[in-house]
Amino acid sequence: MTNEVYWRLGCFFSILIIMMLLEWQKPARKSPVKASTRWFANFSLVLISSVAARLIVPIGLTALAIYNTEQGIGLFNLLALPMWLVIILSFLLLDMLIYWQHRLFHQVPLLWRLHKVHHADPHVDTSTGLRFHPIEIVLSILIKLTVITILGVPALAVLVFEIVLNGFALFNHANIRLPKRLEHLLRLLIITQQLHRIHHSQRPDETNSNYGFSVVWWDKVFKSYKKAATLTDDNLNIGLKEFRRVNENSRLWTLLKIPFIKKQI
Ligand SMILES: [Zn+2]
Repeated sequence: MTNEVYWRLGCFFSILIIMMLLEWQKPARKSPVKASTRWFANFSLVLISSVAARLIVPIGLTALAIYNTEQGIGLFNLLALPMWLVIILSFLLLDMLIYWQHRLFHQVPLLWRLHKVHHADPHVDTSTGLRFHPIEIVLSILIKLTVITILGVPALAVLVFEIVLNGFALFNHANIRLPKRLEHLLRLLIITQQLHRIHHSQRPDETNSNYGFSVVWWDKVFKSYKKAATLTDDNLNIGLKEFRRVNENSRLWTLLKIPFIKKQI
C-alpha cells in the first residue's frame, strides 16, 4: 500500500494518454466547441474537485479501510472468508453501488442539479470522464467511505476498485469507435464508448439508460440497458437541450455555478 499514489497516478495517466492519442488519431465524432476551451474547463474542474475533496474529506478511502481492518469493523472483517473471495465480492458490491449512485443522481432533482454539470458537456471525450462538480465528488467519496466501513472492504480491494473505476471512466468517455467486431464482443461484458454515448444523448429516455461505468450487467439486471439510440452514433445529439450555448457551458465558471442557477444557458 506504500506505493498507492504511484499506482493510482501511473494507471490514470497511462490510460488518459492512450485514450487521448486514439481520439487524436481517429476521432469518432467532431466537437462543436474548440478542444482547448473544453479541455481547460474539464481539466481545471478535476483539479478543483481533487483539492476540494482532500480539504473536506481528509481521510483517504484506503486509509479508512486499513483502520477498519485493524479495528475489526465491518462485515468482511467479522467473517472469516478467503481473501480472494472478499476481493471479488467487494469489487462487485462497490460496482453495483456506483451503478445505483449514478442512477440516483439522475432521479433525485437536487442530485441531478450536480450531475447536470457532467451531462451539459456538448461533446463526449476522455476529458468528459473527469467533468464532475466538486460537490458531486465529495458526496460520492462520503457514500464510498460509508459503504467501505459497513462492508469492511480491505484496502487492496478499495485501491484496485478505484483504479479500475477511474480507468473505465476515461475509457468509456473516449471519443473513439472500436472496430465493429471488437465492439460487439466487448459490449457483452463492459460498457463501450458507443453504449456510453447513448447515456449522453439529449433524449431523456436515452440519458436515463446505460448507467453502468464498467461492467454491462447491472444495466441488464436492473432493466436500464439500451443497446441502440434512435439516431446513429454519428448523428446522436449529445448534451442537454436546455444548455444550447455550447461555448458558454464549456467555461469553468459556468460549470461551477450550474447546480445553483435556475435559468438555462
Ligand atoms: Zn449520468
